[in-house]
Amino acid sequence: MVSIVKNIALNIPDRLLTYLRQIGSVSNQRSVKAYTVGGVVRDLILSNECQIKDGTLDLDIVIENNAIGVAQKIADDFTTSINIHKQFGTAKIITKEDFRIDFVTARSETYQTSGALPSVTFNSIKEDLYRRDFSINAIAMSILPTDFGNLLDYTGGLIDLKNASVRTLHNQSYRDDPTRIFRAIRYEQRYNFRISQTDQGLIQNSINQNHLDNISGQRIRKEFNRIFSEEFAQKSFHRMEDFVLFSAIVPCWNLPQDFSQIWKNTLQAIDWSKQYLPNEQIDQNTMLWMALLDKKTTKTVSHRLKFEKRLQEKLNAKSRLITDLKKLSYSAKPSHVYQLLNSYPLETLIFSFWNHEHHWQKEQIRNYLLTLRHVQPKITGKDLLKQGHIPGPEMADTLWNSLARQLDELKR
Ligand code: ATP
Repeated sequence: MVSIVKNIALNIPDRLLTYLRQIGSVSNQRSVKAYTVGGVVRDLILSNECQIKDGTLDLDIVIENNAIGVAQKIADDFTTSINIHKQFGTAKIITKEDFRIDFVTARSETYQTSGALPSVTFNSIKEDLYRRDFSINAIAMSILPTDFGNLLDYTGGLIDLKNASVRTLHNQSYRDDPTRIFRAIRYEQRYNFRISQTDQGLIQNSINQNHLDNISGQRIRKEFNRIFSEEFAQKSFHRMEDFVLFSAIVPCWNLPQDFSQIWKNTLQAIDWSKQYLPNEQIDQNTMLWMALLDKKTTKTVSHRLKFEKRLQEKLNAKSRLITDLKKLSYSAKPSHVYQLLNSYPLETLIFSFWNHEHHWQKEQIRNYLLTLRHVQPKITGKDLLKQGHIPGPEMADTLWNSLARQLDELKR
């Protein structure tokens, strides 16, 4: 079926239009067909405006035959750098406005086993649309000058957009690539759509048949990171829990009981850190992971999702801090607070400040974050060396005692 929806092209923002028209024109000169596919087309149809977030945009271009030649000419025309993968028939350019344009030679894909990388054959645009995840992502818009803006919709994507339905293109789709389970949930929650009844069954089957075990930790982690950057991430996680998806990734992993509150606190913690600690390098995703994991699950999830060491350490520190905070009495001296919290990563402290239940302990963390850790020692090692001190434990004690006095005097 070929549907032609008028006016879509009229809604394309000028700065995007320039690129699309130029790519179309270069393709026309080379007698190859060119389309934009995926997110941009979907969002244009949905809202009749392109969702260009703060100047960034991912544009997917499909060329029937030799995408690399077209991409190379566009990179020359706009004097941008280009990254070519000859064997895959793909190229990527990043424009001066930070648009990322992916050029792909139209292809079909087949999956030998669940979760494996697909075998690729260069093919027509029709086949290229059939290899995609969902009908709503399988609509192509021609960008050739002769039929610019015409839509190709072989899989009922326009109807699904109208009916707010997330639907995959064949029954083996979630088996072939189980990351599509996360993608389906993400689109469903982002657009307030509904995963089709059939797809809900297919997802459940795929989970029951342990297909998720066939995908690497890195790929699962990437899907979580994508959800983290969504406005409605929390809803996506609740939906994942409906499908019992967490424990399909790692047995015994469930959302914490008071997850909604923890998530809310964590988002506030992130906003707070932007306001009060603007010069610190704080990794938001680390705090979002803290909201999803507890003492019981941190180790196994870190292992399964191949977290890098730094992230693992920060997550482990969260449980350690809960134990350590018990050592702080209500009237603990600032030097004692400093000594206890000094070794903790900022993310762990900020997360705990917003999620801890004891008001006075929260105050101690806040005092450390905003005041104590900024105190400059009046006496430094250099000063002591000049006075003839010998480096060693005694000198370290002297330095610490001096700093501790300074910290405790702040209280008065
Ligand atoms: P988003 O708004 O989430 O970025 P997008 O459509 O741009 O949406 P991408 O992940 O950038 O999403 O993928 C671009 C296109 O590539 C998709 O629209 C889809 O057609 C196709 N695609 C991406 N991932 C898969 C997958 N796992 N299986 C099949 N097709 C996929």
